[in-house]
Formats: sequence, structure tokens, C-alpha cells
Amino acid sequence: MADTQLMEKIVSLCKRRGFIYPGSEIYGGLAGTYDYGPLGVALKKAIQQSWWQHFVTTREDMYGIDAAILMNPRAWEASGHVSGFSDPLVECPKCHKRFRADHIETVDGAKHCPDDGTVLGEARQFNMMFKTQVGATEDPTSISYLRPETAGGMFVNFKNVVDSFHPKLPFGLAQIGKAFRNEIAPRDFVFRLRELEQMEIEYFCHPSKWEEAFEHLRQQFNMWLLSIGLPKEKIHEVEIGDGDRAHYSKRTIDFEFDFPIGQKELAGLAYRTDFDLKQHSEYSKTDLSYFDEETKERFIPHCIEPSVGVERALLAVLTSAYREEDVEGEIRTVLSFKPSVAPIQVAVLPLSKKDELAKPARDIANTLRRIARVSYDETQSIGKRYRRQDEIGTPYCVTVDFDTLTDQAVTVRDRDTMQQERIAIADLSSYFQGKLA
Ligand code: ATP
Repeated sequence: MADTQLMEKIVSLCKRRGFIYPGSEIYGGLAGTYDYGPLGVALKKAIQQSWWQHFVTTREDMYGIDAAILMNPRAWEASGHVSGFSDPLVECPKCHKRFRADHIETVDGAKHCPDDGTVLGEARQFNMMFKTQVGATEDPTSISYLRPETAGGMFVNFKNVVDSFHPKLPFGLAQIGKAFRNEIAPRDFVFRLRELEQMEIEYFCHPSKWEEAFEHLRQQFNMWLLSIGLPKEKIHEVEIGDGDRAHYSKRTIDFEFDFPIGQKELAGLAYRTDFDLKQHSEYSKTDLSYFDEETKERFIPHCIEPSVGVERALLAVLTSAYREEDVEGEIRTVLSFKPSVAPIQVAVLPLSKKDELAKPARDIANTLRRIARVSYDETQSIGKRYRRQDEIGTPYCVTVDFDTLTDQAVTVRDRDTMQQERIAIADLSSYFQGKLA
């Protein structure tokens, strides 16, 4: 069930409080693009960091890469994107608006324009890759594309990583980066964008071991979703049937999530077989096989791909953290982020703007900045400041009051329980260290 009101509240909070703004807003915007403000970028980076930490930094078998967005166009021919990365497009003959045919229900044997009810024309395939010209000459040989997924950059670097690091199977290449899709109908805030960011892994294994690798990544992916604060009951694994999978996939599970716009795809886990390495071997005339030193066997590894959009993960985090509570007759808006992803983890609030409190408060903020994302706020009443921090999801507020000058301690307020406790300034860093991970 769609919850339009919740979505509207989130969009408005994101703009008002500096999370996410419409792209190029002062020029009237550009559909399918958004710009991140200071809090949005902090949240986005925290989500990316937690993914990188979970899948790369803490593992022996993962190799991070950062490939170019522009690639030799032959790579996109090899992957099947030039011929097949398309969605069915229908146009309304009356208002000329364009829609994705598979997003419109068929009623009485026909699809109708959602705006004016006119029967829509035949669907045609529309390629979603953004074409661009590379270099100063404008001829067909200079055409390239903005990558529609980050995966390609990993397949073309498979041999490089094998040659430099000699990894043993199974191992994965991981990447976080921008991707571009000329979506027919971008919509639903940051859910369907034309410029997006993906976090992807291409995990290579022996052909006989793909099921094991698939199951392992499925579990790891579920663990990561829970670690960023998504409620288990809102995550649904959906097995994609034979006719509905991408051309390269022999098995796909979509991780769908209960967004305010309904249950929709958050991420995908696909068994891409040896499709990509075989195609790139053939098109590039480079041997992308793997030689197993132990078994003396040479073969093309098979590949499992967990793929998630940063913005969809961020939207899932934002929408599941939002709550409104009645506190003594007043509505308190709270974003109950996990402390590890909260854009601001600790707010330092002196009770008075005067130097006598402002100076020690700034010193505390500067010390805490070494271990946390910290903001300093001295304007308006303390109650209003607490509410402001609740609304942006800050888990802890540190209040510096006149007693601080004598007892060298501060009050720490917990966002969720609103309980306060007195902590010595000297103990603050160790107090927070355990709480923010
Ligand atoms: P959809 O069916 O919603 O168009 P998809 O199946 O084409 O998505 P994939 O190609 O599997 O998506 O891309 C992997 C992930 O990238 C998706 O699970 C999603 O999180 C993200 N993603 C894909 N397209 C978009 C988009 N237009 N805007 C934001 N995120 C996207």
C-alpha cells in the first residue's frame, strides 16, 4: 500500500533540513536528478562506508576498484547493453506524454494514458543508455556511453587484478560509483533516477561452486541490510521467474522493500554465470580464463552479483526511520537512524552563547570530531535545539551548562528514550566510541 503522505513528509523534510534538493532547482530542475546537501551527503557516505566496511575492508577475498565511467563502446556491445538495455516505451497520441508500458496495467485489452485515458499506441523498445561523443571529432567511431551499471568496469579489470594480486577463487571485485540510465519516467523522489550510484560486487567462483557463493552472499547481504537499520519485516526476497530475468542471469533474487510507494526493488542478487567474462574475452580478443594452480585446471569463472542502488538504500533508511510521537500534546518528529549511519552522531549544545560556556563546548565538539560526526549549535532554546536534532536523527546531544564549569561534566541526552545522564568530559570519547559503531 502506498503511503503518499509519508513520502511527501520525507521529501519536504529532506529539502527543509538540507538532506536532498531537486537537481538544478533554480533553473526549474532536471527530471531524474537530485543534489545532496550537507546532511544528505553525510548519510550517503555513511551508508557507502558501511557497505565498503562490510564487504571489502573486513574481508580477505574482496578487491576494491574504481573504474572509469566512460568505457570503450565495444565493452557495451559485448555486455549486450547496446542491443538490449531497453525498456518498452508507449506514447499517448493525444498529450504525447511517454510512459513505461510495463508500468501501466492493461484494462479491457488496452493500455490507457494515466493522464487523459486515451488508448496508448504500440510499445517500442527504448535504449536507456546516455550516448555521448568522446573527443573532438563527431563521427560514429567517437560514440561512447555513460555506464548504465558499474559491473562492466569490474569485468574489464578481472585480468588486471588476477595478474597483480593472484587471488584464489572464490574472490570478488567491489565498486561504488555513478551510473546513468535515461529512464522513461523518473519518479518517486530518489527511487527512480537518471543519475544514480550503485554498490556492486562481482564475485567469481568455480562453476561447480556457484550455489554456495550465491547462498553466502545472500546471507551477507541480509546482514548488511539489517546493520544499516532496516527492519527485517520490511525486506522481502523475491525469486525472479524464468521469463523475467535479465539476459545474463540464470538465477535472480530481488530484495524488495516496503517503501512508502509500495513493495519495490531495493537490490538484486544475480547469478551471471560466465556470460560476461566469455563475452568480453570474445569481443576484446583477450583470454579471461583462470588457471587454478592447485588443480591445474583452466576455466572461465562463474560470477554472482549483489547490486544495490545507494539512493534506494538511503530512501529505505530514511523512510523506515521516520516517526512522529505525541510528547505532552506536542508532535515530536524523529528520524531514528542507527548511530552508525546518522549524518550527525553527536550535537554539542552550550546552554548559553557566552564565551564562558561556548568555549568549553567548542573544545568538546573539536575533541569529539576525531571519532564522530559532530555539530555545534548555540541558537534558540535548548528544547527547540533538541527537537531540531531529533528531526535530523542525531542520536546524542551533549549539553554544556553552568555546572560544567565546576564539575567538569556534561549532560548526554538519548534521542530515543529522551533520558539524560551526567558524564565527565574526560570520559566522553570512550563513552561514545562503543555507542556509535
Ligand atoms: P528497476 O526494475 O527498478 O528498473 P533494475 O532491475 O533495472 O531496477 P538493476 O539493473 O538490477 O535494476 O540495478 C541494480 C540496482 O540499482 C537496483 O536494485 C536499484 O537499487 C538500483 N537502480 C537501478 N535503476 C535505478 C534508478 N533508475 N534509480 C535509482 N536506483 C536504481
